[in-house]
Amino acid sequence: MAFSYWESTEWLEGLDLIVIGGGIVGVSAALHAKSKRPNWKIAVIERDSFGGGGSTKNAGFACFGSMTELMHDRATLGDTEALTLLKKRIDGLKLLRKTLGDKAIGYQECGSLELIRKGTNYEMPDQVAFAEMNEWAEQATSSASTFHVAKANELNGIDGARIDGAVSSPLEGAINTGKMILTLRSMAQKKGIRLLLGLNVKDWERGDGMHRVQVQRLSADGGEDNLWAETPRVIIATNAFAKELMPSCDVQPQPNVVLVTAPIPALKFNRTVHMDAGYLYARNVQNRMLIGGGRHLGLEREEELVKALTSVLNTLFPETDGTPFEYKWTGLLGVGTTRNPIVKSVHPGCVIAVRMGGMGVAIGMQLGQECINLLLAE
Ligand SMILES: Cc1cc2nc3c(=O)[nH]c(=O)nc-3n(C[C@H](O)[C@H](O)[C@H](O)COP(=O)(O)OP(=O)(O)OC[C@H]3O[C@@H](n4cnc5c(N)ncnc54)[C@H](O)[C@@H]3O)c2cc1C
Repeated sequence: MAFSYWESTEWLEGLDLIVIGGGIVGVSAALHAKSKRPNWKIAVIERDSFGGGGSTKNAGFACFGSMTELMHDRATLGDTEALTLLKKRIDGLKLLRKTLGDKAIGYQECGSLELIRKGTNYEMPDQVAFAEMNEWAEQATSSASTFHVAKANELNGIDGARIDGAVSSPLEGAINTGKMILTLRSMAQKKGIRLLLGLNVKDWERGDGMHRVQVQRLSADGGEDNLWAETPRVIIATNAFAKELMPSCDVQPQPNVVLVTAPIPALKFNRTVHMDAGYLYARNVQNRMLIGGGRHLGLEREEELVKALTSVLNTLFPETDGTPFEYKWTGLLGVGTTRNPIVKSVHPGCVIAVRMGGMGVAIGMQLGQECINLLLAE
């Protein structure tokens, strides 16, 4: 079977822009392009019917980095670059909330805690570090108190004997990831952007003025249809999968496991939690507890990792003890040699925006917009 005449002509011919990847970055790029060039015919091609990437699988932290993560960013990237990244996250979150609306994305200004777990190599920052970090972060957050030592009443629901201390950040929040991506996609569809779910981009060729994108549809009988669509502009927003279309790109897929418990009706704890410099995270999701991450624990087998995550959750949050998990999934982070995302023009008319790391919710929409600004500035 091949693409029908209608499928070819109405969906895939005469496109002014093809965006590969239907996550937060790709759809935001398409929306921004439409707002700048309302007459453009735009398609977002996404191979998974839900979206196979982090945008539908993330934990819903509306975060910009825990205190120790940001200290690490400053040490590795330098003060200026780390501050630029922090500003991107803060501005990106504001943009996401303003564009989609807090209600539509289930935004909660719950604040976050960073727990310094006993028996780990992570240390509670001292008062000097708090003063120094607050002064530095204020340039991005406009708050003199981005971080403070958590007060006793902020630790409700946590076994205090299991931690050496906790950092509170009132500026972080949480979203409902499903609501966010559904709202984003419905906004794009209302603007006339074609969201083509279930089509894989198998290959692409940069050209002189026009580029070619090979679109593949797998059929139920195991066969496949292929079609080369032509377009003057391409955006690649495939994050963790970037190497498939750009083998030399510095992006590695990194699996991240997430678990969600059955409901716990009287659950007291209602914040987002960072642990172990961001490698572990937990939060309340509609009176269930979510826990995820743990790739730093070096546990190869999934059962071992699940056991370790269960133990962390049950010991730190005694209310969860004995409650089974009802959901478990794995998503892929796109990471590389630095924490900076890659947004750049790779050829006239071709821009890539990948390597979102663990904070794509915060930076995704803004970087989607940045791609279009790059294309339009050519
Ligand atoms: C388990 C997990 C938890 C996370 N938690 C958080 C969090 O709490 N807060 C936060 O800020 N960030 C979090 N992140 C990171 C965040 O989700 C990502 O950084 C962000 O969603 C990346 O968005 P994206 O649009 O760049 O990529 P994606 O959402 O990965 O979208 C890329 C899309 O491209 C599609 N694609 C790939 N190749 C092709 C192809 N050849 N043809 C067609 N389509 C293709 C994929 O199917 C995918 O849907 C988490 C990530 C994971 C995995």
